[in-house]
Amino acid sequence: MKLAYKERIAGRLTLATSLIILVVFGVIYLVANFTVVNSIDRELGLETDKHRDQIFLVEGEIRFLHKDEWQEMEHSQLQLNPIFIEIVDLDGHSMDRSPNLRSHHLIFSPEIISEKAARTIRIGDSEVRQMQIPLFNVGKHEGYLLLAKSFEDSRELLNNLRNVLLILYPGILLSLFLTMRYLAGKSIEPIRQIISKTNRITQSNLNERVPEAEPNDEIGQLTRSINELLERLEASLIREKQFTSDASHELRTPLAVLRGTLEVLIRKPRTAEEYVEKITSAFSSIDRMSATIDQLLALAREEKGKFSVREELELITFLEEITDQIAVEQQRKISFRCEASTPIFAKANEQSLQMILNNLIQNAVKYSTPDQEILVKTGITNSVPYIEVCDAGSGIASEYLERIFDPFFREKEAVDRLIPGTGLGLAIVKKLAQESGIRISVSSEKGKGSTFRLDLLDS
Ligand code: ADP
Repeated sequence: MKLAYKERIAGRLTLATSLIILVVFGVIYLVANFTVVNSIDRELGLETDKHRDQIFLVEGEIRFLHKDEWQEMEHSQLQLNPIFIEIVDLDGHSMDRSPNLRSHHLIFSPEIISEKAARTIRIGDSEVRQMQIPLFNVGKHEGYLLLAKSFEDSRELLNNLRNVLLILYPGILLSLFLTMRYLAGKSIEPIRQIISKTNRITQSNLNERVPEAEPNDEIGQLTRSINELLERLEASLIREKQFTSDASHELRTPLAVLRGTLEVLIRKPRTAEEYVEKITSAFSSIDRMSATIDQLLALAREEKGKFSVREELELITFLEEITDQIAVEQQRKISFRCEASTPIFAKANEQSLQMILNNLIQNAVKYSTPDQEILVKTGITNSVPYIEVCDAGSGIASEYLERIFDPFFREKEAVDRLIPGTGLGLAIVKKLAQESGIRISVSSEKGKGSTFRLDLLDS
């Protein structure tokens, strides 16, 4: 059987409380029992002391100091709380007893030595507490005085107390369970509201939030965490949509160029040179599209694949070609400087390094104005080849330097200035660099420009 959470809580609390109550009731009963027995024994002790000096056994005969007192009503009549007295000889044979004992006898135990030790015995149908003391005559032990006091009233009191506790116990447990179940239900009510609210939130209403009722307790924290999670989900969904639209845009532009080129080509017959020129231009559009698609795939794919294969590259030639190509594509002046006097050989995946540089140089172009210099540098430091892409553009605020490699992160300024981008470029760069054993670092100053440095560690 599957119990509801509130029932489980109530059950556990009731179980714990029931044990505590059981102990408390047990202690109450034992204390009451002890107090009652103690009080009877004290009275019995007083009675014993009273009679000890008044009754003597002289050679088998009973003598009284005050005969009248011995015959007092208390011992001869049936009272509510009478004292029973019996005198026995050394062998326990009854010599005399108070009339209120009627046909009954008190119980003599030769083994009882301690004078004040009382015990509970039965006389007929009644329960009594009995004490036994030795009787001496001039130092000679002659017999015993047995005294008893009814235990009936006390027993009734104790039984009543026990019955009340036994009846109360299940009643208390039941009401405890019901109260705790109710309170547990009340306490988890906000959670139930959260569940029903979150169940209603889907992709189409991801902008809705769970109402925050109690701001400072755990439920408030849970609500806030859920709302923050929804916020992140919503933001990521928006970014994903943005990403899809940016990606489509990136593909649509070269596709439109390609279509235009082909349309121009079929409009009328062309010379062989014109065909070569237009088809070459069509190829470059196709290349651009496949480069974009490669970028998208680069971020999407999980496994290490073709980009991890490294071959030896001569960096100076490689970088000159790339900078020229991007300079033409972007229609920007991109300077190149080599800080080494000999060719620089490095182990790298050409396609991957090309994508990394493409992204970095395109960023340098995007985040600077045409009059600001863009410089690609290469060299070797401590036998490690490096490449630097420097620009004198807008620069990056220091608090964002850590985050620019996060997928979809874009500085607010870039978004506000409507600079095209998805925030994926540097995420791809970071991923590719990791796969290719390239350490990437950035230094930047807001308003002064940025330098992205690649150290080709595995060369
Ligand atoms: P995108 O350029 O598509 O926005 P990136 O991942 O390439 O995405 O860059 C992330 C963010 O880092 C950019 O939005 C921009 O704010 C900042 N950034 C990257 N490169 C530069 C740069 N060279 N100069 C200034 N800011 C840059």
